[in-house]
Amino acid sequence: MAGLPWGGILLSLLGTLAIWLTTYDAALSGAILLVWICSLLLRRRDPPPAPEPPARGTLGPEQTRELIEPLSQPYLMMEKGRITIANRAARDVLGPHIVGQDARVAVRHPEAIRLLDSKGGGSATIKGLSGPRSIWNVSVRPVDDARTTIELVNRTAEADISRAHTDFVANASHELRTPLSSIIGYVETMLEADVDDGRPMEPATRHRFLEIVAKEAKRLQALVEDLMSLSRVEAGKHDLPPTVLDLRELTEHVVSGVTSLHGKDRVFLDVDPRPMPVRGDTQQLDQLTRNLIDNAMKYGSKTEPVHVSVKHSDASYELTVTDKGEGIAPEHLPHLTRRFYRTDPGRSRAAGGTGLGLAIVKHIVERHRGRMDIASELGVGTTITIRLPRHVDEEAKGA
Ligand code: ATP
Ligand code: MG
Repeated sequence: MAGLPWGGILLSLLGTLAIWLTTYDAALSGAILLVWICSLLLRRRDPPPAPEPPARGTLGPEQTRELIEPLSQPYLMMEKGRITIANRAARDVLGPHIVGQDARVAVRHPEAIRLLDSKGGGSATIKGLSGPRSIWNVSVRPVDDARTTIELVNRTAEADISRAHTDFVANASHELRTPLSSIIGYVETMLEADVDDGRPMEPATRHRFLEIVAKEAKRLQALVEDLMSLSRVEAGKHDLPPTVLDLRELTEHVVSGVTSLHGKDRVFLDVDPRPMPVRGDTQQLDQLTRNLIDNAMKYGSKTEPVHVSVKHSDASYELTVTDKGEGIAPEHLPHLTRRFYRTDPGRSRAAGGTGLGLAIVKHIVERHRGRMDIASELGVGTTITIRLPRHVDEEAKGA
């Protein structure tokens, strides 16, 4: 009962009633009612034909081309050994000429050719497909007897990251091992001297050895602290600092700490008296300023002061640290912010440096959505400029 078309039946009854009222012909009205109701019931029993399921393999070349063209991953279609379709991403990687070309000529790589020749398809990681350092994952899948799809996935960036991780662990281990070996060496020498001839070691020699042990242990401590700092900054890299601070006040505070330790004539500060609100992490910006001043004092001239300035510039505040020192050769400039990179490793280590100072600075600047520029001239000196975006108080702006 529930499935009957009650709405239609009601309309038929009303229509028939109207005809009977105008004609008073019961036979005609009855016949019309019968035809209406039968037509309603028959239509219900005869559902509209279900749409035909799309037949397999009916996607024509044009449709396939349209479908794969906008995909960001390179996709190709090979038919009887020739490339018939290649989307934009594939043409960018292998060249625009590949469509219509023999697939083996198009990929020009022995491993990829072996994969194309294999009957059942498969996938392989292939080096040097689009450049000497490139790494691609190539997947070949037969669609039918004649056609085969080829998918390329770029793995170069992943490989670079994994290589950078391996390099970092290797460098960090090396940096940690050096002071540790030194500590173990000196302590063992002192122990052996006591055991060998039963006579205690010369107090002066023992004292010198202990000084070395203390220095190396401090280096180890600095290294571990810098590694922890770096990983903390990296972990929070995507979170904008929650607090607003005054860059001018922070710089004044850091410089006063440095001058109280090294003397007033070692660092000169030039500040713009206007407030400089930035969204920043006090501890990190403190560390950034200290690292730059520390470098300027370490690698700059011992007789010339370091100049620090903070001022307003277009849409940012600018912190600069300038030293008159030996400067940095241009070939080193692009690498200075790499972890453990030093222009003179022996000298940096002797000065207790870890080679992580500028890497930490770079990550702090990135977290604060700022910019860092290094300008240096051999024999003249170095200027490092940090630009941090101004903090605009949204409430004050709206008022
Ligand atoms: P740490 O910062 O842990 O003490 P570090 O100073 O050696 O170690 P970075 O601060 O990262 O490490 O500096 C990397 C290298 O850049 C330094 O070893 C040095 O060779 C060079 N460098 C940095 N600042 C200057 C500068 N102002 N003048 C000349 N060379 C510099
Ligand atoms: Mg440094």
